[in-house]
Amino acid sequence: MSSLTGGFYPPTLDDALEKDRLVQTIKDWTIANGLAVRPPPAVASNDSGGILAMSAPVTLFPSPFSKSCFDEATAIQTQYNELYARISQDEEFLSGLVQEVAGGDEFIANLWNVHLRVKEEGYVQNLALGLFRSDYMVHQDGDNLQIKQVEFNTIASSFGGLSARTSQLHKHLAKTEYPLLKDAVPRSSMDLPANDSAEGLAAGLAAAFSAYGKSALGHPTCVLFLVQDGERNVFDQRHLEYALQQSSDTDPTPVFRLPFSQILTHTTLAPSGGGRQLLYHPPHNPAFTFEVAVAYLRAGYGPGDYASPTAWEARYQLERSAAIACPSVLTQLAGMKKVQQVLATPPSVSATPSALRRFMPSESAHTALWKTFTNIYPLDTTPAGQEARRLATDAEECKKYVMKPQREGGGNNFYRSAIPQQLKGIPEEHWGSYILMEIITPPPVVNTILRNGQLEHGGVICELGVYGTCLWDQGTGEVLQNEESGYLLRTKGDQSEEGGVAAGFGCMDSCRLV
Ligand code: ADP
Ligand code: MG
Ligand code: MG
Repeated sequence: MSSLTGGFYPPTLDDALEKDRLVQTIKDWTIANGLAVRPPPAVASNDSGGILAMSAPVTLFPSPFSKSCFDEATAIQTQYNELYARISQDEEFLSGLVQEVAGGDEFIANLWNVHLRVKEEGYVQNLALGLFRSDYMVHQDGDNLQIKQVEFNTIASSFGGLSARTSQLHKHLAKTEYPLLKDAVPRSSMDLPANDSAEGLAAGLAAAFSAYGKSALGHPTCVLFLVQDGERNVFDQRHLEYALQQSSDTDPTPVFRLPFSQILTHTTLAPSGGGRQLLYHPPHNPAFTFEVAVAYLRAGYGPGDYASPTAWEARYQLERSAAIACPSVLTQLAGMKKVQQVLATPPSVSATPSALRRFMPSESAHTALWKTFTNIYPLDTTPAGQEARRLATDAEECKKYVMKPQREGGGNNFYRSAIPQQLKGIPEEHWGSYILMEIITPPPVVNTILRNGQLEHGGVICELGVYGTCLWDQGTGEVLQNEESGYLLRTKGDQSEEGGVAAGFGCMDSCRLV
């Protein structure tokens, strides 16, 4: 049977022996190559040595993905980087949107307050680094396939480390295993795109590290990864760290990991001179003091990391310091779903000229980005918001939508028929803190997921993420680095609404372009 037509791909593996062989190969390759996560707490509690790792959930085969959609999404990434760098610099625009959602969203209000406090005393660092990820699904409308943006991430864009490994895994299998199956998949039929997401993101960190320059205080400089306590996705982060350290043979970049909850314990601001350098005091050796050139947040994106007022003081310390923040508070806020909604609002229903047009005056860039938007509505009291409120509360209409708060990290949205019920529990004056987005419906794809040693076979939904790295000057607007930096394909069972790998819904995948 030919897989060239796409009709018989991926093979169903009816033979138990060949299925076992493929599964064993994947189990071993994933551990041998660090496509892995730490075990869940129930298992980890019996691992007193803290040595256990387990394979990250993966598909047995790379999922078919439209080549033209893939090419389009990767081609526009540098324009997306530029767009979000510009939004981050437009404090007035962000301020307006924060005011619209902050009433019903204490977390956004608190973030904004951190920015206001630092603004009052003056920022000492103008450089800002974005390690972005623009997420898409392919929308099928009859025979027509279009790439549509799910969201744009400006903080803690994860899986760049594991994603490059997943591409390598599938390339390895395409070379060694798939051609041996009874339903052989010839290697020539597998168009598997290159994916240097780990190196790409590390290159962004390296650019910021180098732009920071030498310490005026005579300390060695470092990159500080701010992470969550008990992070299971630690190898994803480690791959970026290793790629960063390997990017220079002569002078390896010092990288440290610090739990977000311990920022105030192990960092201080330089006491004299007003430079507000962020100093890191490694607990393992008090003889050392490092000056933090880049503070890379893999935490701090949601309220869970700010359980105490001290955590907000910690974020304030990062923000007012001279370290290049990835991201700054303004860049984090640029990733609000509210921003995406305003960008996707056509000028005819918006009070002001299209926000996208204002940020991207170039006709070609505007057209390219605009095409990737699907309908997103405010839930406020404007005429467009009133219409969206009608759709969201109607028992039939609501089935076409997802309702999102200003949150990151998965598990926060409300889907279809759950929307009216959810709105009933929210005071109407706070409905404007949410946005209403049309559900994107990808073409049907079948695949098999290997998760916790078990196979799950069936219909799947794929979400493409394209990484982008951008370093710019908040003062002058000058862009010092702007790159497309590889991709992520996350796949979930088609019965699941959410797709987060870390949240336990999705799995790692890669693209077989068709
Ligand atoms: P988060 O920032 O928490 O990741 P997302 O906007 O990415 O929030 O939504 C989480 C998940 O919900 C996505 O990964 C996707 O699986 C699903 N989802 C979100 N928006 C849509 C949409 N418009 N159509 C279909 N699925 C969506
Ligand atoms: Mg997100
Ligand atoms: Mg998401």
